[in-house]
Amino acid sequence: MTSHRIAIVPHTHWDREWYQSYQEFRLNLVDMVDALLALLESDVSYPYFLLDGQMAMVDDYLEVRPENEDRLRSLAAAGRLDVGPWYILMDEFLASGETIIRNLQMGLVRAAAFGGAMEVGYLPDMFGHIAQMPQILRLAGFADAVVWRGVPSSVTKDAFVWEAPDGSAVRTQYLPTGYSNGSALPDEAKALVERVADHVEEAGEFALGEVLYMNGSDHLKPQPWLGRVVAEANGLQDELVFRVTTLPEFLSAAPSGGLEHWKGELRSGFRSDMLMGVTSNRVDVKRLGGLVTRELEGRAEPLAALFQSPSEWPQRQLELAWKEVVRNSAHDSICACSVDDVVDAVMHRYAEARAVAKGLADRATTSLAISLSEPGPHVLNPVHRTRGGLVELVVGASGPPGDHVQVLSERTGGPGPMVLDADTVRSILGMLESPQIEHDAWLQAIVVEEDDQGIDVTFAIGPEQRSDVPIAQIKRDIYARLEARPDAVVRFGLDQPPTRRIVARVGEVPGYGWMSFGPVALSHPAQVSRPGGPVTLSNGLVAVEVDGTLGTFSLNGRPGYGRLVDGGDLGDSYNYSPPTEDSFVDSPDAVSVRIDEDGPVRARVVVTANYRWPDHLDAGSQARVGDRSVEVETVLELRADESAVRVTTSFVNPSRDHRLRVHLPLPEPARTSLAESAFAVVERGLTVEGRPDEFGLPTAPAHRFVSAGGLTVVHDGVCEYELIEIATSPSGDFASTVALTVLRSTGMLSRSGMAYRPFPAGPQTPVEGLQMVGRPISLRYALAIGADDPFALADDILLPLEVVDSPGGGSRPSSGRELSISGAEVSAVRRVGGVLEVRVFNPRSEPTTVTIDGQSGWLVDLRGYPQDPFEGSFELRPFGLATARLNGGY
Ligand SMILES: [Zn+2]
Repeated sequence: MTSHRIAIVPHTHWDREWYQSYQEFRLNLVDMVDALLALLESDVSYPYFLLDGQMAMVDDYLEVRPENEDRLRSLAAAGRLDVGPWYILMDEFLASGETIIRNLQMGLVRAAAFGGAMEVGYLPDMFGHIAQMPQILRLAGFADAVVWRGVPSSVTKDAFVWEAPDGSAVRTQYLPTGYSNGSALPDEAKALVERVADHVEEAGEFALGEVLYMNGSDHLKPQPWLGRVVAEANGLQDELVFRVTTLPEFLSAAPSGGLEHWKGELRSGFRSDMLMGVTSNRVDVKRLGGLVTRELEGRAEPLAALFQSPSEWPQRQLELAWKEVVRNSAHDSICACSVDDVVDAVMHRYAEARAVAKGLADRATTSLAISLSEPGPHVLNPVHRTRGGLVELVVGASGPPGDHVQVLSERTGGPGPMVLDADTVRSILGMLESPQIEHDAWLQAIVVEEDDQGIDVTFAIGPEQRSDVPIAQIKRDIYARLEARPDAVVRFGLDQPPTRRIVARVGEVPGYGWMSFGPVALSHPAQVSRPGGPVTLSNGLVAVEVDGTLGTFSLNGRPGYGRLVDGGDLGDSYNYSPPTEDSFVDSPDAVSVRIDEDGPVRARVVVTANYRWPDHLDAGSQARVGDRSVEVETVLELRADESAVRVTTSFVNPSRDHRLRVHLPLPEPARTSLAESAFAVVERGLTVEGRPDEFGLPTAPAHRFVSAGGLTVVHDGVCEYELIEIATSPSGDFASTVALTVLRSTGMLSRSGMAYRPFPAGPQTPVEGLQMVGRPISLRYALAIGADDPFALADDILLPLEVVDSPGGGSRPSSGRELSISGAEVSAVRRVGGVLEVRVFNPRSEPTTVTIDGQSGWLVDLRGYPQDPFEGSFELRPFGLATARLNGGY
């Protein structure tokens, strides 16, 4: 028998929260690290420990044991502990690309305080891996990745070259039997030898060099007998040569020549569970996550960076908001394959991050408003691309509405003067602190007049935002007059001219710029008609006809969009599983259609469909039983001069154990889909690799959009989709429909005996929240046929133009822009050390020139190290990612 060399790497895998809450797991974390520190300090035969590649463990521990920071630091500095590089072990498909980068940057910065991060892209438990991960790792200076899940059948050895779409590649150590292959080592040498000999039988054919034996598993403590048992095992026999080593040391000695090669994402279930159903459980988590990401990445950072001074940059507030988002990106957190306490915490962290981000964005827009020279409404474009679009605002209604404007509602003027006594006047004034009376109503002035009969106090109220009304001074004036004439009659009046809420289309607003509001003529006005037949919306670019029986709609004559198909799901938080006796509900009992807005700027109809969905799955027969009535409201919206149809489907979920999908026919049959993933659009086929332990279900996540067969669907929050209705032809298989998962209800964290995954993937714990019963569910999406730029469409749908109301008197002109970026998609605009930093990516297969008008600076890597200077523009390779720091001027 040939001898095998066995490299043992002691570690633990620490899910911060999962089948227990964060605090419950942390009690064990503190015990584990306490024991680890004592062990490493007292026993040199226990040489090393890998703290799971994530700094959150260190912070969580030190929050309880701050006194042990120096002990941790000394051990890390001595190479006995490896920390970082991540802040947390995120899910790569559900977290945004920017979240993944911030996670890595947070981890690197925090690890620097402990002597530096482990220089390995350690990705042990993620449910598959994104295509651009090798590029992200390379841009952060890493040459190695370590992965388990998602590796395809074509990789047959325990190392391969993994290449990103841009050509960046990392040597990737594959853990064919996971990160727990050497968990819980026996404390007796003979037993260890036997066990490892068995493992070599099972997995040895993968090994190109030493067999990597990962001594640890989920929440496992170190085994103090490691050094002794390894020494004894080496003394006992010659066939297995054991050594305890560090992960970086193992990798530095591992073979790197002649490796197999893989390009793109890793989503195969050929050898390990992909757990693809995590994309569609707890859809509320995914949709709130999308919203938070937009507020933080798409509004708070760029708007604060561009419209506030460097000294006002809210560094710490943003760090705190990002910390919540990064913590939520942990694979068991964002995937919601967790107990309800955990998902509640995830939702709360998102709510906190959103409140911070929205508040900061609103401050930045206020900053812009008060800096403008002209008073009145202005339109702000929060994205880099110059574009027109619709805005909604409240204006005075003294005259006719004017051309090209659609009136949504009118508000009549305020009541006439009332006679009040002095005490009532004092109490009214006592409540008056700010000029904002209501959301759209601002105090414009307070007029005080006096005559022989008494005192007239008039509040002038209007829609224009004001900050210059001297409230305190006027209050003092009125109190003085009341003091002087205690018996005077006070006539209190509101001068509130009528207002109207309007929607109008505005012309091209420069990217990261603004323009005073002015409606433009409509080339393709939106119309609704109901000529005694079905309701239709049209604008000359696209036509929508509602089917009043099925509740679906046609797009340009092609019927069947918006068909809701409800089937059973006897799965768990990780995987969908159809019951043996499945039945589907795909047509409503009754449909009504109401016209909500009839154009010309915006047309909206509301389709209300009443369905009867089964109540739950019978555990014995696996049949769907009982029935529940549910009212599903679908709002269809068509705007002037836009070819996208916006759809929002909402209902309160009445049923258990089911999966609801919306079917969207493809204009042309499709063999592949193109879906947004982090910094890329990935092409996926009709099938994925699986195995008997986990069926290769080709459901997949899309960040903001998926395109197939000429249809582009932009959606709110990461969404699960599948190409379905597959037809076989001599030239191959084609799909004719894309299904989006609206909701998946299951009541189990994990389960065994499922149709698509027989063995459990976690504890078999009932989790009521996974059923989503009684919860409002809403899916917002937009459909476009033949859209040439899905990124532009996604920006239009998800980051619309905004209205800011200027009091006037500032220095910015009535139109302008703060930053001009073209030639690539923008992922981030923020300040780093006072300097403006821009991150862009090229989602296309051609090289591009990224132009940042009038700016020079340095391209930097993801650690902030300068790479190349640029003047005005730089070249970006196909599918490349680049970070630019701008010199002066900002
Ligand atoms: Zn895990």
